[in-house]
Amino acid sequence: MKLWALRVPGTMAEDIRRMLLQAGHIHPKAQIRRDDEHILIPVAGKPEPDELGVLPGADKNITIIEAEFEPKRKKPSLEDILGFTPGFDVIGDIAIIEADDPDAARIAKALLEYRKSINVVLGAVSPVEGEFRTRQWVVLAGEHRTRTVHKEHGCRYNVDLAGAYFSARLGTERKRVADMVKPGQCVVDLFAGVGPFSILIGKSVPGASVVAVDKNPGAVKLLRENIRLNRLDNVTAVEDDARHAAGNVKHSADHVIMNLPQSAREFLDCGILAAKNGGVVHFYDITHEDDLYGISWGLIQEAAARVGRTVECVGNRIVRSYAPYQYNVCIEFRVSGD
Ligand code: SAM
Repeated sequence: MKLWALRVPGTMAEDIRRMLLQAGHIHPKAQIRRDDEHILIPVAGKPEPDELGVLPGADKNITIIEAEFEPKRKKPSLEDILGFTPGFDVIGDIAIIEADDPDAARIAKALLEYRKSINVVLGAVSPVEGEFRTRQWVVLAGEHRTRTVHKEHGCRYNVDLAGAYFSARLGTERKRVADMVKPGQCVVDLFAGVGPFSILIGKSVPGASVVAVDKNPGAVKLLRENIRLNRLDNVTAVEDDARHAAGNVKHSADHVIMNLPQSAREFLDCGILAAKNGGVVHFYDITHEDDLYGISWGLIQEAAARVGRTVECVGNRIVRSYAPYQYNVCIEFRVSGD
């Protein structure tokens, strides 16, 4: 397209571009371009020569001409750069990808360059593993750190991915559980991590009190930081094994959260014991698609019988897919009996 333009020396171009932009003179649909040692800035209408006087260093080096321009290029997306849509998670200002992805280096570079909110790209070099459910990481791009601040449902969390579990993918599930807690109720979160269930409940449910337990000292340190960060006085952090901690809060909880899907089955007795008469247990498990809830429900009933209580199912749901044919599920049940 043919447009009026200012032809300015390259050394002055940025100052003049900014001034024209502020004054609303730059043509919105045309791409600024180079012309030898000069830059051509397309403008919306023919400028009067005396308008040039307001420009910094304006002199005979600036001329008003008509020139051909290309339509403005839109900012390339990640997909434009890579040629495919990369899979990644974001926690705070850290993006997470798999380190063994053949395109890991390209994806990391593109994420850093084209997502302004990302300052670190971590590659996972191990699955979620061990008792504390952590992963090992390599920094693929950006600053060398595994710590960040993640915001979710109006709460802020200090997270250190090298030292304690955290997944942004459970945000919807945490909100769903928090919405089930009524004002004034007591909650025991047996595998609290850095506190995303506990803190959300402490912050969003008036009068609620939460006992948040985790065995990982690194997770509990962050949990304590997060209680302070969110200015809460109704969440108590306990560094302990869930079995031992549950013994100290027997028959007290309106809600018991058991978010350790890989092995929460081993803790069913203590989870059921922590619930008060009529209390609800939110039990997470990993199950096969051929039997999403049956085996788990059998184990729940056996555990209840062992500790002399009865259980009634109040809800089953798939939280997310976990692996081929396997799902992370939540079974919710009410506990009765003293
Ligand atoms: N609920 C948190 C969340 O949503 O981010 C953390 C969930 S993570 C899957 C499970 C947590 O259980 C880890 O932080 C781990 O340290 C903790 N854990 C593992 N075994 C435990 C035990 N025996 N007693 C207490 N906590 C334990």
